[in-house]
Amino acid sequence: MSKLRIKECFKCSKQKDVMYRCRYDEIKDWVFLCRNCLKQIKNLFGNTYQYGGTWKSKKK
Ligand SMILES: [Zn+2]
Repeated sequence: MSKLRIKECFKCSKQKDVMYRCRYDEIKDWVFLCRNCLKQIKNLFGNTYQYGGTWKSKKK
C-alpha cells in the first residue's frame, strides 16, 4: 500500500504538514483544508460545517 504523504488543501491547493478534515455545504465527501481555509469555511458555513479530525504528515 502506498500512502500519500502530502495532502493538498481543497480550497487553496497548498500543501501543508497539518490538514483539517472537514465537510461543509453541499460537499458529500470529506475534504482537507489548511488552517487558514478552515477558519474561513467555519465562518461561511457554520451551519453545515463538520469537523472530521486532523491529519498530519508523519515525517520520519
Ligand atoms: Zn487552504
